[in-house]
Amino acid sequence: MATAFRATIETGAGPTVAILCEYDALPGIGHACGHNVIATSGAGAGAALAAAKAQLPKGRILVIGTPAEEGGGGKVKLIQGGVFKDVDCAMMIHGFDRTLLHQDLLGIVRVTFEYTGKAAHASVDPWAGVNALDACIQTFNAISMLRQQVRPECRIHGIITSGGAAANIIPEYAAATFYVRARRIDTMWELHKRVVACAEGAARAAGAGLKVIQHDTVYEPMNSNKVLLDLFAANMKTAGLAEGEPIPDRLGSSDVGNVSQVIPTIQPMVAIAPLGTAIHSREFADAAVKPLARAGLLAAAKTMAMTTLDLLAEPGLVEKAKEGFAARR
Ligand SMILES: [Zn+2]
Ligand SMILES: [Zn+2]
Repeated sequence: MATAFRATIETGAGPTVAILCEYDALPGIGHACGHNVIATSGAGAGAALAAAKAQLPKGRILVIGTPAEEGGGGKVKLIQGGVFKDVDCAMMIHGFDRTLLHQDLLGIVRVTFEYTGKAAHASVDPWAGVNALDACIQTFNAISMLRQQVRPECRIHGIITSGGAAANIIPEYAAATFYVRARRIDTMWELHKRVVACAEGAARAAGAGLKVIQHDTVYEPMNSNKVLLDLFAANMKTAGLAEGEPIPDRLGSSDVGNVSQVIPTIQPMVAIAPLGTAIHSREFADAAVKPLARAGLLAAAKTMAMTTLDLLAEPGLVEKAKEGFAARR
């Protein structure tokens, strides 16, 4: 990937630990996910370890720049490209309105529905048309009903990306994109099937054609790893980060979930915005360049550097982290 990078510190035969950086922003609202802080804290941890290179235990430290988290699946492509093949474990942090050692992430599959109908004058000959927008709107209605019959942690949300050309033409084409999320990979695919069935039923009701386009960026749910989290927790205290109140129902998704399905991986949340600030909001983008965010990024950089150092100093811990990972599978 053109905008990925990998920086390596090598001190001899030993474990390979990766520190991950994200740096993409959001269309229209900038760094409302605080990836500027993720990037700088990862780079900072790498710089700190590089400065201490002469005293480091044997091993290999990678700082990996992983682009396009917000929908592009950068880490999925890097996994497919073999970037994590010889990596023993990985860590990164994510900014939030509070510090949390672990936050679950939902798996997500993205799907686009394209409906084809038949254009006709909406007043002169409406009966001669087939309304593609009706099929699209009926899909939203069917999914709204489906939502009552799913587990509370599931999320289904969509937008209409094309809804017709003019009000006096029966729309011959309409399209919508939906994101379908669930806590487990298997339940995610079951839910995806039910969402596709909603679109099929709606298209049939309107007499429209339907094309289902499944995006190739499937994000998997986040695993946790007790060994890595315990190390991070101890270092976090040293760096002055205190854990906040858990909020198990605020659930997003990330391609770091895919990494966590391949190797032991953690992504603690670090406070970089005032408590109560919603992520992906303009308020969060403002907070991500304020002193609180700077304090969070420095503490996170120190915590990741010290956790990496722990793993290199005691390769048995890396083995334990991998055992925990294998047992879970
Ligand atoms: Zn985000
Ligand atoms: Zn993010």
